[in-house]
Amino acid sequence: MSRFWSQAAQRCEPYVPGEQLNQPGIIKLNTNENPYSPSPAVVEAIETEAANQLNLYPSPTVDQLRERIADANELTKENVFVGNGSDEVLAFSFMAFFDQGKAIRFPDISYSFYPVYARLFNIPFKSIPLRDDFTIPAEAFFQSDGGVIFPNPNAPTSVYLELEAIKNIANQNPDQVVIIDEAYIDFASGSAVSLIHDYENVLIIQTMSKSRSLAGLRVGYALGNAELISGLTRIKDSFNSYTLDRLAIAGAVEAINASDYYVNITAKIIATREWSFSEMRKRGFTVLPSQANFLFATHASFPAETLYVKLKEAGILIRYFNKPRIENYVRITIGTDKQMQQFFHALDKILSCV
Ligand SMILES: *Cc1c(COP(=O)(O)O)cnc(C)c1O
Repeated sequence: MSRFWSQAAQRCEPYVPGEQLNQPGIIKLNTNENPYSPSPAVVEAIETEAANQLNLYPSPTVDQLRERIADANELTKENVFVGNGSDEVLAFSFMAFFDQGKAIRFPDISYSFYPVYARLFNIPFKSIPLRDDFTIPAEAFFQSDGGVIFPNPNAPTSVYLELEAIKNIANQNPDQVVIIDEAYIDFASGSAVSLIHDYENVLIIQTMSKSRSLAGLRVGYALGNAELISGLTRIKDSFNSYTLDRLAIAGAVEAINASDYYVNITAKIIATREWSFSEMRKRGFTVLPSQANFLFATHASFPAETLYVKLKEAGILIRYFNKPRIENYVRITIGTDKQMQQFFHALDKILSCV
């Protein structure tokens, strides 16, 4: 604490991301990154852009990328907001749609950035307990005072909420914004994006960090009706005119164009997930039904924290959260088939030592 800090700087409790160790040979299954490279066309577009025009500011309205994202979702660019990673889009959404003094709701087990933003912007919140099977109890989100936000599929649980339940939540919050954070939606059975035509209070947030293999480029976006989008634009333009740089814009446009490539690697990750799911169960784990690029699992006789520590010693990073209700769970990002085989090899050695 410093006497020079503003109240916001004093009040906030910064988010702690998963470890980013730069050890050669380490297998990283801890931050839900994509194990495959981005499309070569994306890298080429970034290189071409880097060779040109970096002396000039990028577009403040990012029309080209917004148009491409709009086309891909059968929308218009007035329905699309882009930002520097979906984390920034989330932060702007808190500023644009949630107010001090009116409690918002999100699940007790959820993306840990939500309480961080709430504290930073001084927005009260109610965390809603997930059911014992870690599904979202939709009714508990009805008639909120200040708005609703949750990931779908949820993180770190990987559990998916059906569209009907999301419609009910939107119907029961007619005067509040309902934000669906679809960071993992390409690994799941279906997006709620179609709802934005019928529900003016629904905002969908997606990212290029997971299914598009571009965590390092920092591109996220929001889809919603034009009024919500212009609310976000007002906040952004009061903050930074150029949140996306030229390289990010060029790469992200190509990532939308290269959809065949991404459909293919997404299918591979889903196949590896299903195989890994059954391999975990064979070893006595309880694994939640996953519609994401990670598994959330617990073992009746082997403590999760020990597992995390022992795997790290073996050069494999997974995620462990020392938090109520999930302190005996681990989250394992789906890697390539080869990485998962190495993971199970290390896991067998650890489990056989008990
Ligand atoms: C990874 C993740 C994000 C953030 O993604 P970026 O676009 O990389 O900022 C947002 N929400 C959830 C639930 C995530 O898991």
